[in-house]
Amino acid sequence: MTMEHGEDCCVKVAVHIRPLIGDERLQGCKDCVAVVPGKPQVQIGTHSFTFDHVYGSTGSPSSVMFEECIAPLVDGLFQGYNATVLAYGQTGSGKTYTMGTACRDGSQTGLIPQVMNALFNKMETLKHQAEFQLRVSFIEILKEEVRDLLDPASPGKLEAGNGHAGKVTVPGKPPVQIREASNGVITLAGSTEVDVHSQKEMAACLEQGSLNRATGSTNMNNQSSRSHAIFTITLEQMRKLDPIITADGVPIEDMSEDFLCAKLHLVDLAGSERAKRTGSDGLRFKEGVHINRGLLALGNVISALGDEKKRKEGAHVPYRDSKLTRLLQDSLGGNSRTVMIACISPADINAEETLNTLKYANRAR
Ligand code: ADP
Ligand code: MG
Repeated sequence: MTMEHGEDCCVKVAVHIRPLIGDERLQGCKDCVAVVPGKPQVQIGTHSFTFDHVYGSTGSPSSVMFEECIAPLVDGLFQGYNATVLAYGQTGSGKTYTMGTACRDGSQTGLIPQVMNALFNKMETLKHQAEFQLRVSFIEILKEEVRDLLDPASPGKLEAGNGHAGKVTVPGKPPVQIREASNGVITLAGSTEVDVHSQKEMAACLEQGSLNRATGSTNMNNQSSRSHAIFTITLEQMRKLDPIITADGVPIEDMSEDFLCAKLHLVDLAGSERAKRTGSDGLRFKEGVHINRGLLALGNVISALGDEKKRKEGAHVPYRDSKLTRLLQDSLGGNSRTVMIACISPADINAEETLNTLKYANRAR
């Protein structure tokens, strides 16, 4: 398949600034992040960074973020392009809120619910041209181990609907294996893939997996997540062979390929704060080290992909350095589209981590 979205860079970076939240207000925190009016530029202290988009402080609702950053990826799925959306940032910065992986109050404002909406709307408009099949999987990577969040045997299912997320359930199943086929396609052996036929079924998978996601408490946030959670939607389409011709005799789309398969990974990354800041040791510290391995490898992969000169020279992209990058390998780079959303808190007490997040995101451009 040829690269059709020529002028688009393969990695786009957006910053999402959440408002000051209750705790921060109570502590008397000040807003230390400024946005240059009319520009996707963020300032903190003497530092200034420019990204593809900046959302939040200007009051852009998340539907604007969806339309500008994510809707093109959903459209790309129908053309057969894989894509990845990554929410990066310290614990409490709004990653889960932004992605919509919490399902706390059945919120429809997160990106994943909006992806579902757009997908089903688009399938409805294309139903005379193609047949579609959708599958979802939901896994987490914790301590370099991949776990199935949709395991039917796990207790999360029984709890679904009572609204109490956060109970830690430890499925007894063996860890999921990441496999690479000879054509480069990455698959997960041993993870549940659910065939979904409606938006409701897809939303139920999101909710079930979110309930199963392991959480642990740290000094920063007792809902803190130390794992990467990856919700993956696979779209298969069998195009009906006759090309659709418009009134003036022009075929609407290139119908040369009759089967297309593409996937979209929606990733709620582990908190990016350093292990030392969580104030815990022993087991937690080890988890911190592993988390850093995934985030470190991701940073290296994305920065290698973003460097056009290196890319043209066919430079090595270090996908193999972590489970996270290995799993995302066929959906980062190449013909895939990637959007990183750097989530930040505006509070002055978080300034150091916010600066780290902006630096990490800046490297991705
Ligand atoms: P993370 O997943 O990065 O740890 P959360 O998504 O759980 O962070 O957000 C931390 C807190 O901030 C939650 O109480 C959440 O409801 C709130 N929050 C996050 N983003 C926003 C936002 N854009 N607007 C309002 N509240 C937000
Ligand atoms: Mg979270």
